[in-house]
Amino acid sequence: MAALLEGLVVAHLGQGIAVEAGDKTILCQTLRKLDTVAVGDKVLWSQSSPDQGRIEQILPRRSLLSRPSRNEKTRPVAANIDTVFVVFAVEPFCDFLLMDQYLAVCENRDINAALVLNKTDLPPSDSIEQELLGYQQLGYPLYRVSATAAAGLDTLKAALKDQVSIFSGQSGVGKSSLTNALIPDKDLKTNAISATTKLGRHTTTAATLYHLAEGGDLIDSPGVAIFGLAGLTEAQLAYGYREFQPLLDECQFNNCRHVLDKGCAVRAAAETGAIAMSRYQRFLKLREKMPLANP
Ligand code: GDP
Ligand code: ZN
Repeated sequence: MAALLEGLVVAHLGQGIAVEAGDKTILCQTLRKLDTVAVGDKVLWSQSSPDQGRIEQILPRRSLLSRPSRNEKTRPVAANIDTVFVVFAVEPFCDFLLMDQYLAVCENRDINAALVLNKTDLPPSDSIEQELLGYQQLGYPLYRVSATAAAGLDTLKAALKDQVSIFSGQSGVGKSSLTNALIPDKDLKTNAISATTKLGRHTTTAATLYHLAEGGDLIDSPGVAIFGLAGLTEAQLAYGYREFQPLLDECQFNNCRHVLDKGCAVRAAAETGAIAMSRYQRFLKLREKMPLANP
């Protein structure tokens, strides 16, 4: 039997998976029974022909982001992410419901979250600034950047160092612009992956992992725009609002749904202003959007 080698999944290609091992990238297939492999996965693979390999095992994941697929199942998007950078802007106007959704998922998946306000070259919005103050008080780091004006990028690069990151956020906020600004030779690298795996150009379909020049890895994945509340329970959504966490044990009933329940400590805290009413109201909205919210 061929020796097992360790590798890093750097791209999902139409006809296989690109695995980086040492200084080469090799095209690998997976065994049928194997869980779907995600970009960012560390794997054990074996040489199956001179220029192809086979993934034998996915090594334990530190974290996993998934997105909904058919039959209420989920598909892995990216593995071993340390930090999700939620990108937003004044235009299209920031969707704080979506923002809370991303933050709640991260909180439950043990992934750090940070906020990136892009398009700082455009006039600021008072209402956004007010919400941002709240998020910063909750401990979420905030980076102010402009991809097109190349502002704030050095600070962002420093934050991306020494870890695996991914940008998420609604379409149009500038995720691709930022990725291109941070990885100027992105197309070159993508083509190099395709070339070494002999699949020709433009075959990279879903996600790709890039090594940043200043250190750190950035996973570029179109699918991440929709990693949603997939798989979260109602209780996990409440936990995903980090300011609720110390209050959850204070509710009168341990199955409290934090809506109109008697003795709800979360609602009480929102009413007295101890926690932000805007976040609590968004929690109620997201809760209603959940598939199994109302048994
Ligand atoms: P994505 O959908 O999140 O990947 O967003 P894109 O990167 O495609 O950007 C959407 C639009 O916003 C494009 O027209 C970009 O030129 C524009 N854009 C991106 N970054 C900035 C910025 O910093 N300032 C301004 N004014 N526009 C930007
Ligand atoms: Zn409650």
